[in-house]
Amino acid sequence: MQRQQMVRRIKEQHAAQIPWDIAVVGGGATGMGVAVDAASRGLSVALVEAHDFGKGTSSRSTKLVHGGVRYLQQGNISLVMSALKERGLLRQNAPHLVHDLPFILPNYAWWEAPFYGIGLKLYDLLAGKYSFGASKLLSKRQALNLLPTLQHEGLRGGVIYHDGQFDDSRLLIHLAMTASEQGAAVLNYCPATGLLRDADGYISGVMARDEETGEDLTIPARVVVNATGVFTDSIRRMADAKAYPIMVASQGIHLVFDRLFLKGDTALIVPRTNDGRVLFVIPWHGHAVAGTTDTPVNAPSLEPRPLDDEIDFVLETAGRYLTPAPTRKDIQAVFVGLRPLVKGKGDTSALSRDHVVHVDKSRLLTITGGKWTSYRHMAEDCVDHAIALGRLPDNACVTKNLRIHGYLKYADTLDDLAVYGTDAKAIRELAQDTKLAARLHPDLPYIAAEVVWAARAEMARTVEDVLARHTRALFLNAAAATEMAEPVARLLAAELGHDEAWIAVQVKEFRALAEQYRVA
Ligand SMILES: Cc1cc2nc3c(=O)[nH]c(=O)nc-3n(C[C@H](O)[C@H](O)[C@H](O)COP(=O)(O)OP(=O)(O)OC[C@H]3O[C@@H](n4cnc5c(N)ncnc54)[C@H](O)[C@@H]3O)c2cc1C
Repeated sequence: MQRQQMVRRIKEQHAAQIPWDIAVVGGGATGMGVAVDAASRGLSVALVEAHDFGKGTSSRSTKLVHGGVRYLQQGNISLVMSALKERGLLRQNAPHLVHDLPFILPNYAWWEAPFYGIGLKLYDLLAGKYSFGASKLLSKRQALNLLPTLQHEGLRGGVIYHDGQFDDSRLLIHLAMTASEQGAAVLNYCPATGLLRDADGYISGVMARDEETGEDLTIPARVVVNATGVFTDSIRRMADAKAYPIMVASQGIHLVFDRLFLKGDTALIVPRTNDGRVLFVIPWHGHAVAGTTDTPVNAPSLEPRPLDDEIDFVLETAGRYLTPAPTRKDIQAVFVGLRPLVKGKGDTSALSRDHVVHVDKSRLLTITGGKWTSYRHMAEDCVDHAIALGRLPDNACVTKNLRIHGYLKYADTLDDLAVYGTDAKAIRELAQDTKLAARLHPDLPYIAAEVVWAARAEMARTVEDVLARHTRALFLNAAAATEMAEPVARLLAAELGHDEAWIAVQVKEFRALAEQYRVA
């Protein structure tokens, strides 16, 4: 996957005056899913992303591939069933990235074991052949064996059930590589700046700007798909300045701690927080991640900030269930994401988590809502609509059985490089050079060879790309990531041909950003 090649292909297609079948705006889970689906059906696809792939919400999820126990509580059976099926398909097609994670729901009141025990049996039943394992009741001792840091005072026992876990930005990078292998042109650092129209006033393509050269790119297309998450309405207004808003953003934060707060390989679910939501504390890349919140947001931003109240809420809720209770000084990183929710009535936690496909009068096709787990199903639905809208060849969707780049069973034998799947071999080869085998920080497992790989094969362009999404250093330990900035900048500069001035700017910008991931 080479950025220059992507730019060249987009320019050549314009010069030849051949429209793409589909142009996608937005390189998160939704847009990249559409690119993979369409390209694997044999359609020609170009995708533009304003920043790095996954810079938006798709790198900031709770990292669960799940049916959604909470939606079961809300009685949304069809949404849960469909997500459970997608959970199974995702593990089948990306076994190197999706794995089973056991959760304990602790019981402190007498009624919790029968109530949640029955609910989770229903969850098992709905999963059917896509089950990740049966739920069962645990004694107090069994629960504490699996979750030694669980608050034992008043504990009666627990219910254990299974869901999936993944690394969101790594899956996105592998989806981009899959899309590229299927023939799509996917380009990062290339915001859509406007929409093209045909003689009848219908949308017929995208104008975009290559941020690295400042050049304008013209991307004629039979169908334009708007997959910009919380920024959906800004693209819709390019098509129709008076378009009514359909998007509501809701913010969720996660706090990251040392694993000493969550010993063992089992996650904790708090089934009912004070605001009526669920809260998870999950083991992830050698750390403990606690979240999340649901706070309405007026204006979407790419780097949303946590509110003090949200931090207090997560600390207080996790602290009621864990011993020792984590405090502010234990927070190694805080990351925040914005849920793209489709407008309805009521508070944001009551808004639909279903996805929406919307066609404007101008024939702009918008897809939004849903969740990471359902990206494949959403993409299938969107491309079906695009085929009808653009009278494109009606080829059947093949993604149910399409292996995602890096596909490898039993990847956990690759230890720290497991998330790379089959690419781990190439990274190990790079690490034959002892300079590239060195760890970039004693507190995190990342080695220099991963930076070189990210630049050569994954279109990483900046220090932030490498530390936030190609590795997860910024999301795991913001102080350590800050210390890694300069060595990473030097490795990238050598790969991408940049000078000392570029290194200085990159380090300065990254350090400023990393401050936002720390809690004073
Ligand atoms: C706190 C939180 C926790 C979550 N946890 C889970 C979970 O555990 N499991 C799960 O399944 N789901 C989860 N979700 C939901 C899931 O993360 C989202 O549904 C999904 O990531 C949305 O992807 P997207 O592609 O629609 O949006 P995004 O990832 O935001 O992608 C939109 C992209 O469009 C780009 N863009 C914007 N404007 C332009 C432009 N003009 N030109 C080009 N590109 C542009 C942006 O830069 C961005 O990268 C969670 C969400 C939140 C907020």
